[in-house]
Amino acid sequence: LSDRLSGVFDRLTKQGALSEDDVKTALREVRVALLEADVSLPVARDFVKKVQEKATGQAVTKSVTPGQQVVKIVHDELVAVLTGEGDPGALKIDNPPAPILMVGLQGGGKTTTTGKLAKRLKDREGKRVLMASLDVYRPAAMDQLAILGQQIGVDTLPIVPGEKPVDIARRAKTQASLGGYDVYLLDTAGRLQIDEVLMQEVEDVSKAVSPRETLLVVDGLTGQVAVEVAQEFDAKVGITGVVLTRMDGDGRGGAAFSMRAVTGKPIRFVGLGEKMDALETFEPERIAGRILGMGDIVALVEKAQDTIEAEQAERMMRRFQKGQFNMNDLRMQLEQMVKMGGMESVMGMMPGMGKMAKQMEGAGVDDKMLKRQIALIDSMTKRERANPALLQASRKKRVARGAGQEVSELNKLLKMHRQMSDMMKKMGKMGKGGMLKQAMK
Ligand code: GDP
Ligand code: MG
Repeated sequence: LSDRLSGVFDRLTKQGALSEDDVKTALREVRVALLEADVSLPVARDFVKKVQEKATGQAVTKSVTPGQQVVKIVHDELVAVLTGEGDPGALKIDNPPAPILMVGLQGGGKTTTTGKLAKRLKDREGKRVLMASLDVYRPAAMDQLAILGQQIGVDTLPIVPGEKPVDIARRAKTQASLGGYDVYLLDTAGRLQIDEVLMQEVEDVSKAVSPRETLLVVDGLTGQVAVEVAQEFDAKVGITGVVLTRMDGDGRGGAAFSMRAVTGKPIRFVGLGEKMDALETFEPERIAGRILGMGDIVALVEKAQDTIEAEQAERMMRRFQKGQFNMNDLRMQLEQMVKMGGMESVMGMMPGMGKMAKQMEGAGVDDKMLKRQIALIDSMTKRERANPALLQASRKKRVARGAGQEVSELNKLLKMHRQMSDMMKKMGKMGKGGMLKQAMK
């Protein structure tokens, strides 16, 4: 994937600007590359469309090539899709004993992951854990879990020959209650592929114990089939998360991406080896990096963006100290607010300004409104932006109309600018090295 992408982006770097056609050409290749990394077709198509919208018209950061910029945009979007809500490692294990059901195909790594999770809960969270094998089809499977249990110092439910999976699950529940366990993990049997009997069995077990978490364990090296498996299990028992195993191998993570995109289920953990401590909580950035394989470029663009933001902030500070605050400055502030999703821009960091930011927030200033205000500023001429005092009646009408808004809205914007400008002047008078500088630290 990375070779293919490098080729595309090398070609992009030869051109000066990131035109719509360039983005399109590059993303056609990205789509093919995603498919090669085992991302499913509809997911790849959808993803490319989203990136296309984001990339076109986006300014290219100074000192970064257009190609590098596209890499960063693709990367960010991969991360956005992969990121679930909340902490992936936080399992719902309040209300002891909490049942956790492990499901998946045979050989996916269920038994191994059951041991790893048990160890993690015991060592990191000090939980009392009980494990039970429901794999009645292969006697060796039950022994496998018992041996793991001894190895990591976690109890396993004693094996009763001839018992049915649902009965084992019920016995595990009883034992967990009586024994004062916080959590009990149920390691189910898998099949080489989805079949009716297996699904029915998993469903019965799920109904018998009402698991707090149902984790689907999937081999990270499998491709497309992983998405179908995830959908089937989710439809039948409702999975609450995915564990990707064998990510110590050279799997690209394309399956993870598709599963996430299609089922919307969070990826919780990643298996990185056969040992009992080879389990980590899922990190979207890392998987995105594997899918794209261009971490160095992403880091480079991020650094360039940071540098520019710091330079901009400093330039702005110097202007403010001189009491200069025109519409261009205001526009930059508004844009920053949109980007940061709130009032915590440079403005929020300044004493006095923080209060105003709160007021604006209270007045219902949201993304949409900020964008409307930016549109008003964009509708002004260069001279008007530098000197808003020029904006009298007829000019006001023109500007408002240009932005498709009412003059009253423009008046509100001008008032806000005046207030901020006054405050800047006051603070500027407090002297260099005064409050402003203090606030920037
Ligand atoms: P189950 O049939 O789903 O219970 O799968 P197992 O837990 O028995 O695992 C099957 C094989 O995969 C075993 O040899 C495990 O040691 C191996 N395995 C499981 N997880 C990982 C992993 O994260 N990395 C590697 N390299 N091997 C793993
Ligand atoms: Mg097993």
